[in-house]
Amino acid sequence: MSAPAYKIIDHTYDTVVVGAGGSGLRATMGAAEAGLKTACITKVFPTRSHTVAAQGGIAASLCNNTPDHWTWHMYDTVKGSDWLGDQDAIEYMVREAPQAVYELEHAGVPFSRNQDGTIYQRPFGGHMQNMGEGPPVQRTCAAADRTGHAMLHALYQQSLKYAADFYIEYFAIDLIMEGGKCVGVIALCLDDGSIHRFRSQAVVLATGGYGRCYFTATSAHTCTGDGGGMVLRAGLPMQDMEFVQFHPTGIYGAGVLITEGARGEGGYLTNSEGERFMERYAPSAKDLASRDVVSRSMAMEIREGRGVGPDKDHIYLHLDHIDPKVLAERLPGITESGKIFAGVDLTRQPLPVVPTVHYNMGGIPTNYHGEVVTIGADGNPETVVPGLFAVGEAACVSVHGANRLGSNSLIDLVVFGRATGHRLKELLEPGAKQPELPKDSADLALTRLDHFRYAKGGSPTAEVRVEMQRTMSQHAAVFRTDELMVEGKAKLAATYKRMKDIHVSDKGLIWNSDLVETMELDNLISQATVTLHGAQNRKESRGAHAHEDFPNRDDANWMKHTAAWFDGWGGKGGEVRIDYRPVHEYTLTDDVEYIKPKARVY
Ligand SMILES: Cc1cc2nc3c(=O)[nH]c(=O)nc-3n(C[C@H](O)[C@H](O)[C@H](O)COP(=O)(O)OP(=O)(O)OC[C@H]3O[C@@H](n4cnc5c(N)ncnc54)[C@H](O)[C@@H]3O)c2cc1C
Repeated sequence: MSAPAYKIIDHTYDTVVVGAGGSGLRATMGAAEAGLKTACITKVFPTRSHTVAAQGGIAASLCNNTPDHWTWHMYDTVKGSDWLGDQDAIEYMVREAPQAVYELEHAGVPFSRNQDGTIYQRPFGGHMQNMGEGPPVQRTCAAADRTGHAMLHALYQQSLKYAADFYIEYFAIDLIMEGGKCVGVIALCLDDGSIHRFRSQAVVLATGGYGRCYFTATSAHTCTGDGGGMVLRAGLPMQDMEFVQFHPTGIYGAGVLITEGARGEGGYLTNSEGERFMERYAPSAKDLASRDVVSRSMAMEIREGRGVGPDKDHIYLHLDHIDPKVLAERLPGITESGKIFAGVDLTRQPLPVVPTVHYNMGGIPTNYHGEVVTIGADGNPETVVPGLFAVGEAACVSVHGANRLGSNSLIDLVVFGRATGHRLKELLEPGAKQPELPKDSADLALTRLDHFRYAKGGSPTAEVRVEMQRTMSQHAAVFRTDELMVEGKAKLAATYKRMKDIHVSDKGLIWNSDLVETMELDNLISQATVTLHGAQNRKESRGAHAHEDFPNRDDANWMKHTAAWFDGWGGKGGEVRIDYRPVHEYTLTDDVEYIKPKARVY
């Protein structure tokens, strides 16, 4: 097929970062600071990235409110990951964490304070003292319940200080790959419909998660995993996609998040009998057990008929016993959300909540320098893809393994955003001459764009999207069975076929949200497919993956990362191929010992 004719505007940079959330902005700052000519492309205005919605906080062992140590943070993260996390990367993150938080403080993040002026830290699920022994540690630094908002604004202000160029409201369509190397990216300017080709020594994908492949999610409608879609089309694998985090407390019906900080400040869950049921499931950590544990316990209560409400299909979260002054000071945002989205006055009434899709542990596989890795032709599972980096929720480093602890994502963003900046500085020479791009460098992106733009089938995008979302919500939920997942795979394959019959009604290029949503759907559905295939393939239960036919963790056979490829674009039928990468069963330094797997109880 010859490529359609579009006028192309060319740019050359040392580094192009796609995404301006916490991770993308931190990587942009790092690259620009290193003297590299840097562009940051983002489909939404930087401070509208989903990071802005983060409420609860950012984890670092500062020891301001309770004793703490980075090795305790490491232990909790490894245990939280259900031993699927890579311990070299986890050591790197927890050791760098305090410095990263001080850096944010100096960048202007208005953290909540203790009486003595130090940064206030709150308890969060799964974070404990004394190598998991307890009691809970106060490790999560917060700016009231608007931590992400504060962070993102500070980071955006800082990045303007450096000479990075921002391409705002530009939609990145596809990577330019040349002989296995990433050499740039193609983007559509949403505002005037112009096509831009960025030639670059390195591309950093910081495009966030893909929560929107489910019907209800706490994430923004823009969380469509575009980076992951690009990576799959480039013939590279995604990692551990079967691990999807359900946050215990999404507001019933609306899906809007109530931060775990609510339980950190003393909130608790009850069933229809008024029982604080978490005491039965997690006698020690109770309501502050890890998210997968709390979500599963809630689902069990509902399933056994002890849910609340007319349909007995949700649970109550109580904050009505907390001093209204504390609520006003530390949880003002959720007090407002409770009122708007549930019509509830938190100071008097319990809030109806239900486990809701929240975070993707899986993503683009990288090492702790942010470099994308794959299984090479020679079988080497640590083969670096030259020129390609990934950070933030789009990436799988993997520090979160099978289940992420609350407040460990914000720290992941800044620590690995910064690490990526360091690596770029080491590897790239500012202004180095780059080879001419091959003639067909824009073909993949433009053929796909043109195909969807003129798609005249019988299936509107919104209809196909909701079909995918319902299948994911029904067949890849908190609890999974083999039968359910096999059925889900078949349904999703049928939905994928409808992509050939898609209908886009707006044929223009200026602010064509119909077209952009179709490209986003195409990105979502490839990742939904590898998620469901990965889940059905993994015959064990670990972290967020609760397989009812295989209720136990099976370290002998399954302590390994799933790598999944998707053959979808260019007339292929959406086949999935699965292979494995080893979990890094070693630490970065000799300062800490490898934490051996054991049963995970809270
Ligand atoms: C409601 C909510 C509350 C949370 N609270 C916490 C918390 O308290 N603590 C914590 O640790 N974690 C929390 N998390 C998780 C955490 O906030 C996210 O994982 C994290 O912010 C993701 O950041 P990111 O930089 O990877 O991507 P995002 O912030 O999602 O940004 C993605 C960026 O990519 C750009 N982009 C995407 N696709 C394209 C494209 N095709 N072309 C151009 N640009 C593109 C977007 O414009 C955007 O700038 C929360 C998540 C949610 C949803």
